[in-house]
Amino acid sequence: MSQENPLLARNSLPPFSAIRPGHVESAVGDLIAELRETLQALEENVQPTWEGVVVPLEALGDRLGSVWGTVGHLMGVQNSDALREAFEHAQPEVVRFALAQGQSRPIYRALETLHGSENWSALDAVQKRIVESLLREAKHSGVGLDEAERSRFNAIQEELARLTTEFNNHVLDATRAWSLVLGDPSEMEGTPSSLRELCAQRARESGEADASPETGPWKLGLDAPCLIPFLEHAVRRDLREKIYRAYLSKAGSGEFDNSPLIEKILALRREEARLLGYASYAELSLASKMAPDVGASIDAAHEDLASLQAFAAHCGADEAGDLQLWDIAFWAQRLREERYAYSEEELRPYFPLPRVLDGLFALTRRLFGVSVQAADGQADVWHPDVRFFRVLDATGEEVAAFFLDPYSRPGEKRGGAWMDECVGRSRRLAENGEGVRKPVAYLVCNQSPPVDGQPSLMSFGEVTTLFHEFGHGLQHMLTRVDEAMASGIRNVEWDAVELPSQFMENWCYHRATMAELSAHIDTGEPLPDALYQKLDAARTYRAGSDMLRQLYFSFTDLALHHEYQPGEAGGAFAVQRRVAERNAVLPLLDEDRFLCSFGHIFGGGYAAGYYSYKWAEVLSADAFGAFEEAGLEDVAAVEQTGLRFRETVLALGGSRSPMEVFTAFRGREPDVEALLRHSGLSET
Ligand code: ZN
Repeated sequence: MSQENPLLARNSLPPFSAIRPGHVESAVGDLIAELRETLQALEENVQPTWEGVVVPLEALGDRLGSVWGTVGHLMGVQNSDALREAFEHAQPEVVRFALAQGQSRPIYRALETLHGSENWSALDAVQKRIVESLLREAKHSGVGLDEAERSRFNAIQEELARLTTEFNNHVLDATRAWSLVLGDPSEMEGTPSSLRELCAQRARESGEADASPETGPWKLGLDAPCLIPFLEHAVRRDLREKIYRAYLSKAGSGEFDNSPLIEKILALRREEARLLGYASYAELSLASKMAPDVGASIDAAHEDLASLQAFAAHCGADEAGDLQLWDIAFWAQRLREERYAYSEEELRPYFPLPRVLDGLFALTRRLFGVSVQAADGQADVWHPDVRFFRVLDATGEEVAAFFLDPYSRPGEKRGGAWMDECVGRSRRLAENGEGVRKPVAYLVCNQSPPVDGQPSLMSFGEVTTLFHEFGHGLQHMLTRVDEAMASGIRNVEWDAVELPSQFMENWCYHRATMAELSAHIDTGEPLPDALYQKLDAARTYRAGSDMLRQLYFSFTDLALHHEYQPGEAGGAFAVQRRVAERNAVLPLLDEDRFLCSFGHIFGGGYAAGYYSYKWAEVLSADAFGAFEEAGLEDVAAVEQTGLRFRETVLALGGSRSPMEVFTAFRGREPDVEALLRHSGLSET
C-alpha cells in the first residue's frame, strides 16, 4: 500500500516531481497508523536506558519529520488550493500524534528514571543534553496535566496549528490578490530599469502580450523585488503612498483578514502558558534575555530622520516639512546617493547569481575547507529553477548536499528567505552501510528573478540574504554531531540560531570576498574599488534607524506575549501603537496592520523570540571580530580561525549550550562592543 505513495519513500531524497497534493492525506493516514503502533509497542516495552527510550524516540521523530517536513516544505514553495486542503485535513492527525507522544507517561517516567539512575553517569554530555531537552519538551507538551486540563491543552494545540496555517495562507493570498498595473511611463519615473523589466515581464505573464520595459504596461506587486525598489525610487509620491498603504494593511481587512486570528492566537498561547504554570507565553518560551542599549539607537534614528528632512528641503521637495512613511525609503536612497555618490541599483549588474555563488563557494572553501559542486539533475526538484549542490570535504568525500530555490514566485511561494532541513545528520539512522547519514538542506530565497534571458541580477540586500541563509545551511550541513536529535540546528536554543547566518553576512563587506563574488554582467569586471569603498562607507548609514526598527519589532513581540491580556480595549494593535510611541520616530498610520503579516511571530517559530536576531547579532559581530583581530588579509590566520569556527559553532550545533559553544570558539563570553562598532553606534 504505502510503497506506491511517493511521500512515504524511504532511503532517498523526496521524489518531488512525483508528489501530488492527492498523496498527502493517504500518506499521513498510513504513517500515523504505523507510528501509533510503534508508539504503543514502545510504551509497553520502554526501558530507562539510552537504547530503551531515546533511540526509539529518535527513529519515530525522524520518520514523522521526514514525511511531514516534506509536506510543510511544499506548503512554503509550491502552495496551491489542493495542497492547502490536503494539509488542513492531515494536520490535526499529526498534531494529535505529536501530543500523544509528548504526553506519554510511560516514556516520561522512563526518561526521569534514566535521569536519576546510575545509567545517567554513563551518558556523554551530548546524550545528557538530549534527555534534558526531552524532559523539558514533555513538560511543555503537557505530560503533567490532569485529564481535564489535558483535553483543553490538546484542543488549544490543534486550534493553534490550524490558526497558524490560516495566518500564513492569508498573507500569501493577500499578497497574490493585490496588484497595480501602471500604463503611463510618467508613473514609473525614477524607477530602475531592472524593476521596469521585471514588472513588464509580470504584465506579459498575465496576458499583456505587448508589455515592454520602456512603454509598459507594468504590473507591480507586494513582493519584495517589486515593493522595495518602487518605494526607494519612484518619483510619484501618490503611488508610493498607495503601494505603501497596501503593504502595511496587507491581510488586515476583507477576505484575508488576519486581525481576528491574531487575537485568537495570542489568547490561546496565553491560556496554554497558564495551563503549564507560567504567567505568560513569553515566560514559557524565554530561555535567556538580553537588554540591548536602546537609548543610542533612538537618538541615532531621530538624527537620521532630521537629516532626511533637511536633505528633502535642500532639494526643494514639497513634502520636506511633512515626510511620511512612504517618503522615508525614497529620501533615504536620495540622501545615500548624495552622501556616498552611488545608487544601490548601480551595484546590481555586478551581482549575477552564478558569479555570486562562485564567490560564496570560494569563501566557504577558504574559511572551512569544504568545496561545493553543482549537481543539477542528480536530485528531483519541485520547480525547474531549483538547483542542487553537493558539499565535499578537503579529501573529496561528500559530507552534505543542499537545494537552492532562489527566485520570488509570489503566487505560490511564501515571502522572505529561509533554510530548512531536508535530511538531518545521524549515525544510527544511516542506511545501506553508508556509515553516517549525510545532512541535506533547503535554501529558499525570494530574490529578483531572471528577466529577458539574463541571469538574476541581485541587489546587494539579496546577496547578503543569500549569505545569511547559507550560514544557517552551513550549521546544518557541517555538523559533526552523530545524534540526530542534536545535530545541525536541532536542539540549538533559538536565541543562538541566528549566529552563523548573521556571521556570514559580514563577509559581503570584505574586499577580497567582494572581488570574488562580483563580475559585471556585460564587462565581467569585479566591483571597482571606488564603488566598493562607497558601499563600505555606507554600511553604517541609517544604522540607528535599522537597529530601532528591529528593536521595535522585538518589543512589540514581547509586549504581546507578556503584558497583553487578549480582549483588552484596542486589542493587539493598541499594544503595537504603545510600543511604537516609545520606539519609532514617525507615528504609525491609523490603518497600520503590520501585525497581520508579521509571519515570524504568528506564522513561524519566533513568538516571544524575535529579539533573538538582535542577541545573535551580538554573537555574530563578536565572532567576526575574531577574524578581524586575526587579520582579514592574513590567509593563514583566516584559515585557522575559520577552522576553529567550523569545529565549534558549525560542528557542535545543539550538542552543547550556545554559551559553551561560543566560548569554545572565542575563548571568552560574548561582548557587545563589536556590534556597536560595526553599526557605527559605538561611542569610541
Ligand atoms: Zn536567519
